[in-house]
Amino acid sequence: MSNCAIVGINWGDEGKGRMVDLLTEEYDVVVRYQGGGNAGHTVINDYGKFALHLLPSGIFRKNVVNVLGNGVALDAENLWKEIEVVREKGVAITPENLKISDRASLLLPWHRLLDELEEKRLADKKYGSTKQGIAPFYSDKFQKKTVLAGELLFPKKLKEHLMQLLEWKNLIITKVYGAEPYTEQTLDEWLDTYGEKIKPFITNTSDFLRRASENGKNIMFEAQLGALRDIDFGIYPYTTSSNAIAAYAPVGSGFTSAKLDRVTGVVKAYSTCVGEGPFTCEMFGEEAEKLREAGGEYGAKTGRPRRVGPIDFVATRYGVQTQGATEIALTKLDVLSYMKKIPVCTHYTVDGKVRDDFPFPSEIDDAKPVIEYVDGWMCDISGIREWKDLPEAARAYVEMTEKAIGCHIKYVSVGPERNSIIIR
Ligand code: GDP
Repeated sequence: MSNCAIVGINWGDEGKGRMVDLLTEEYDVVVRYQGGGNAGHTVINDYGKFALHLLPSGIFRKNVVNVLGNGVALDAENLWKEIEVVREKGVAITPENLKISDRASLLLPWHRLLDELEEKRLADKKYGSTKQGIAPFYSDKFQKKTVLAGELLFPKKLKEHLMQLLEWKNLIITKVYGAEPYTEQTLDEWLDTYGEKIKPFITNTSDFLRRASENGKNIMFEAQLGALRDIDFGIYPYTTSSNAIAAYAPVGSGFTSAKLDRVTGVVKAYSTCVGEGPFTCEMFGEEAEKLREAGGEYGAKTGRPRRVGPIDFVATRYGVQTQGATEIALTKLDVLSYMKKIPVCTHYTVDGKVRDDFPFPSEIDDAKPVIEYVDGWMCDISGIREWKDLPEAARAYVEMTEKAIGCHIKYVSVGPERNSIIIR
């Protein structure tokens, strides 16, 4: 039996989906333990290309059971739409291979509306939300103003509970934002459509995970976003509203006694960031445009162009430490193949002082990157599968990164497909 978490080291979009898809071969259960429909994991395999937002990336493996834990923002509408897309490609999704925690809180239809209203109110000070209702959802969860998925199994009590919440929410919608109230009829329609559809998948997943572990099953915990977006340790307030770190896996999965044997941190060979907030190593102009194009850096959920920059050793080292990574998967090394000289951010300066620790959020606005250029390899490496076959400059880039971030790089990904990987 072994447990593993696959987590993002940076701002998200590091390529976690492709790593989960690859590594699930060795696992029996894949659990999502935080976040919701706000970020996408891209998986390319024999069934096609998918942007998964809520479904665990193990859904394509025949013998893998996929779990949505209690820490997830359970958006029944988006989940159901995703299930339909994946089913259409011939993947079976049943209560046998997908289990939803009865203790997961439901993202209710008004959460998306409130997200939109608040971003509109903030205008040029907006957080850059994906408007999937995640922040209103998590604040309601901790205010105890949403419902648990398991309540869908008790319809009469659920309706009473929801009506109390609706009354309170409508005060905010109408009196704070001056918008139209949410109606009981719309709520009923939502319950009849999406609530009913997800009901058969709801179960006590804590029990399931504990028993699976007792029976020697290997469990993988799949995180969303990255360390720099973690609500406690990220660049607050430009974070997500949940804990994206491995340490949260036992809580958010519902398998509270879980021990992690392995934490695989995913790092991209350069940096990207979606949304607002400090991004110290950001590149602009033609250099940025070229990198964005080469890496296809457009949001999986929103299609928004991602902000890009060189690999950032300061932020990445912090991410490795925060995640407690035991090994690293370095992805998208192939994307850098067009560069004669590759920029890397080795340090920051703040107020003229060189810093190699990651600054506190209030300081980070003033941080400036120190950039060095290293030799590129200028050839296609996407077909390479052995470490020794990589050009010397590519190996030097990986080794330099490994040293700077303080963690062994076990996997080097050179393409989006399942087998485009070098294992060291
Ligand atoms: P995630 O949210 O961490 O899973 O990352 P995304 O799915 O948003 O972004 C990763 C993108 O890069 C997807 O389009 C992947 O198919 C793609 N990708 C992952 N690894 C590699 C790689 O090594 N090379 C290339 N060229 N693309 C990759």
